[in-house]
Amino acid sequence: MRRYSIASIPGDGIGREVVPAAIAVLTAAAAKCGFVLEFRHFDWSCQTYLKTGKMMPDDGLDRLRDHDAVFLGAVGFPGVPDHISLWGLLLPIRREFEQYVNLRPVRLLPGIASPLRDKARGDIDFWVVRENSEGEYSQIGGRTGTGENEIVVQQAIFTRRGTDRILRYAFDFARRSGRRHVTSATKSNGLYHSMPFWDERFAAIGAEYPDVAADQYHVDILAARFVMSPERFNVVVGSNLFGDILSDLGPGITGTIAVAPSANLNPERRFPSMFEPVHGSAPDIAGQGIANPIGQIWSGAMMLEHLGETEPAALVMRALETALIAPDIARTPDLGGNGTTAGFAQAVRNTLLGL
Ligand code: ATP
Ligand code: MG
Repeated sequence: MRRYSIASIPGDGIGREVVPAAIAVLTAAAAKCGFVLEFRHFDWSCQTYLKTGKMMPDDGLDRLRDHDAVFLGAVGFPGVPDHISLWGLLLPIRREFEQYVNLRPVRLLPGIASPLRDKARGDIDFWVVRENSEGEYSQIGGRTGTGENEIVVQQAIFTRRGTDRILRYAFDFARRSGRRHVTSATKSNGLYHSMPFWDERFAAIGAEYPDVAADQYHVDILAARFVMSPERFNVVVGSNLFGDILSDLGPGITGTIAVAPSANLNPERRFPSMFEPVHGSAPDIAGQGIANPIGQIWSGAMMLEHLGETEPAALVMRALETALIAPDIARTPDLGGNGTTAGFAQAVRNTLLGL
């Protein structure tokens, strides 16, 4: 029987509620489809940090290394600065395991209204591919001078290797998924060195994919087009900063961040990839059992897909979409219902077993 070992890190806040809920759905899919998901739990979080001064133990990365994937909830806690959880857990995992692709579907689910009045289901269905390892997010730079004379420099690093591999992933993905259109986010009229380079590499890599259409927009007008005409996009690729912003705008136009998933991928599969919802630990509703588990469940479906379990991944999504529009299934309060995290996940699980 096929077996996969998954490292689960529920983390903080609602992560501790939505991860178990999603695992219940995923294990049901595995049982139904004849394979085994072995979850090993790692209780690393801001609580760990407050007790030990570290988000994870010194050998944390080594403990994750041999797993087939990492399934993460959320990290973040009031009083613990964001950069602690980011630099103490998320970024080391992304860097060590060369998860240089951040992939997010932007797709309107059934039964969820888009804030874009005129847009219906099929109108919003595309993918954002974000560069996840270099670019604008660097620690290089610094502050000099004082007072009125203070100057701050923040360097962005674009390597040929890093740029080419993310662009190539976007084109490969477009070809593989049958969506033969890649749009690049640029800003070559403002960023003098990095974006002309990005554009140059986009043209060069694009030329290797004559069967995939390519176009590019400055990121400002691209953001506007996400809102005005989302139906025209298939695959959108952007640098770390642009991809970050666009991949939150995406969930914005599909109704709520609570349902949006993301994957941090090492496409070569030399290292485990990591799957996590877009939302954070949401301290305001943590502990109440009312968090929406959809983003976590959908992230789990992306994980199954990455593991090569394409049919089970589709089954999870079908169960989710069926449950979302079933009149007798209570959705969580953020979607206007009076359901609970566990209750909704249980309903998705039962729906799945009945499909
Ligand atoms: P973090 O610092 O970890 O990012 P956050 O306070 O920024 O946490 P987010 O998760 O980013 O919280 O989301 C902002 C708000 O959206 C939350 O405070 C919460 O009210 C709502 N929200 C987020 N995720 C969910 C969810 N899964 N279900 C219901 N509401 C959610
Ligand atoms: Mg946040």
